[in-house]
Amino acid sequence: MYVVDPIGKPLAYGLVKNLRGDQIYLLPPWPGDIFPPALPDLEGHFDHIAPEDPEFEAAHLFGSVRWTLDVWEKYFGHPIAWHFRRDLDRLELVIQRDLLENAFMGYGFLEVGIHESEDGGIEPFSLNFDVIAHEVGHCIVYSVIGVPDPGTASAEYYGFHESAADLTALIAALHFDSVVDELLETSHGNLYTHNLVNRIAELSSNDQIRLAANPLSMLDFARGWHDEHALAQPLTGAMFDIFVDLFHEELVARGLISQGQADLSDRLEDSPDYFRVIQPIFDEAYAAAPGHFREALVASRDELGMLLAETWRRLAPDDLSYAAVGNTLRAVDRIITGGRWRRILDVNLGRRAIGFASAGPRLKPPGPRSHFDLPRVFVPEGPNGCCNGTRLTYRERFHYEQT
Ligand SMILES: [Zn+2]
Repeated sequence: MYVVDPIGKPLAYGLVKNLRGDQIYLLPPWPGDIFPPALPDLEGHFDHIAPEDPEFEAAHLFGSVRWTLDVWEKYFGHPIAWHFRRDLDRLELVIQRDLLENAFMGYGFLEVGIHESEDGGIEPFSLNFDVIAHEVGHCIVYSVIGVPDPGTASAEYYGFHESAADLTALIAALHFDSVVDELLETSHGNLYTHNLVNRIAELSSNDQIRLAANPLSMLDFARGWHDEHALAQPLTGAMFDIFVDLFHEELVARGLISQGQADLSDRLEDSPDYFRVIQPIFDEAYAAAPGHFREALVASRDELGMLLAETWRRLAPDDLSYAAVGNTLRAVDRIITGGRWRRILDVNLGRRAIGFASAGPRLKPPGPRSHFDLPRVFVPEGPNGCCNGTRLTYRERFHYEQT
C-alpha cells in the first residue's frame, strides 16, 4: 500500500455520473500531482516525522492501516491479501482535504476526508485511528469472506460488514498500551462505563459516531431498516457483551472478582442500579491488583480476536445472516475450547434476538453516510457501459466525463 496526498483531485473514487448521466467507476492509481510524501528513515521508520510536519498526516494514515493489519494478521495467522489483487497490486490510501465528509474504501482505495465539528473546527480523518481502522476492517472482510454475487447481498451482510469493521477497530485500538492504561484507569475494569474503547469512531472526548455498548436487538429491525450502521448495532452490542463476559471470566479465574460478583454484574446489566452497585466492586478490586486486571483484559481481548477471526474465515458472503454468524461462533467455540464459552454466546446472542429475528425490508434508500451506495461491492467485470472491457485510469475517466 502507499499514501497519496493529491493536489486538485476533484472527485472521490468510486461510482460517479458523467455529464451524460452514465455511471462510471473511478479507480486508482491517482495520476496527478501530489504533495511531498512521507519518507521513512534508513530503518524504515516514520517516527522522525513530527506532528506539525506537513507529511505527518500521511505517515499517521499509513501507520494506522499497518498497525490494524498487524493486529489482525496475528489472529488470522497469515497476511491479508487484498480482494482486488486481480487488478491492482497495492492499496492506495488517499488524503482528501476538501470534499469528503466521510472515509470509505473500495476497489483498490481507502480515502479519508475531514469532519467538521459543530464549532466549525476541522478534524482530518487521517488522524482518527478508529475511523481508519474501521475501513481496514471492511478490507479484511472482503479479503477473508469475499464479495457476494450480484443479487445475493442480504441486509444482514451489510450490517455484518459494519459491525465487523467496528470490532476490527475496537480490538486494534486495544493493542495500544496507552489505550489499555486509560481504559483501566477511567473504568477500573467496569467496561460498561462510557469509555474510549466502546465509543466507536470517537470524534472528541464526548462525541462519537456509535456506541459498542448499546441496547438494540434484532427485534428493533424486524419491521425494517434503513441504515446498515444502525442494523450493525445488535451484533456489535452482542459481541461487546461477549467481550465483557470473557473479561469477567478471566477476572474470576485470577481471583480478582468472585463468581458471585460476575453473576451479579450479568443480572443487573439492564438495570438502572447497575452503576451504583457494580462500580464500587470494581473500584475496590482494581485498586488491589491493577497489573492483574491488565493481564485479564489483554487475555480476553485476544480471546475475542481469535474467536472473530476463526468465525469470519468460515463465513460465506452470499445471503449472509446474523443467525449464521451466531451458529459459526458456537461451532468455533466447540472446536477451540470444547464449548467453554457456549453459555456466554447463547445468553448474549439471545438477548439481541440473533437467531430468532431477522432484519425486515429496507425502508429507505441509502443515506449520505452509507458506504454501500458507492457500491464498494463493485468488481470490474469487463464490459460495463463506458469501459468496453478496458479499465480507464482516473484521468482518462475524468477526461471522459468532461467530454
Ligand atoms: Zn463502514
